[in-house]
Amino acid sequence: MKDIMPVNGAFEMMALPYDAETLGVISSNTLSFHHGKHLKTYVDNLNKMLSGSGFEGLPLSDVVKRSEGALFNNAGQVLNHTMYFEQFGAANHQPIGKISELINRDFGSVETFQKEFEAKGATLFGSGWVWLSLNAEGRLVITQEANAGNPLRGGLTPLLTFDVWEHAYYLDYQNRRADYLSALWQIIDWSVIDGRL
Ligand code: MN
Repeated sequence: MKDIMPVNGAFEMMALPYDAETLGVISSNTLSFHHGKHLKTYVDNLNKMLSGSGFEGLPLSDVVKRSEGALFNNAGQVLNHTMYFEQFGAANHQPIGKISELINRDFGSVETFQKEFEAKGATLFGSGWVWLSLNAEGRLVITQEANAGNPLRGGLTPLLTFDVWEHAYYLDYQNRRADYLSALWQIIDWSVIDGRL
């Protein structure tokens, strides 16, 4: 996982690495609110709260691991959304490379992994994130995190995440969170996930 550093004392808005019209299973309307409004607010709040916090100049992962309260909520949401938006793309929609080997070793098959991941997302009560991470023993684990939670705080290396806050899917899928979760596999670029190992 590559770290995100502040530039001149402030974290920057990440740019979408694809055209917002092209994802299909997430509409450009959802993306414009989710990236342009929700993430922007988290970035702005984080930058306001950094001043005087003792976390100035540190990488975002350090802020996420060690801060609390409102600062943590905004730092976590900036990191989580950056990882979420960066993992989509037009190619590599099946696991490749090392991540493919690990999924088959630890879950038996890609299909079994995807079903378990979707179930963890569907059963997360309220707002949060479902994650695929690497644990200290080098095994893949799926975890649920409430609100702004990130597996870094539990000593895991986060690799893949689906946002299950309603703002991520409500305009396109209304209450059908399970349909949103199963559709996301169509736009995951597994070269990004493999690169986070
Ligand atoms: Mn979100």
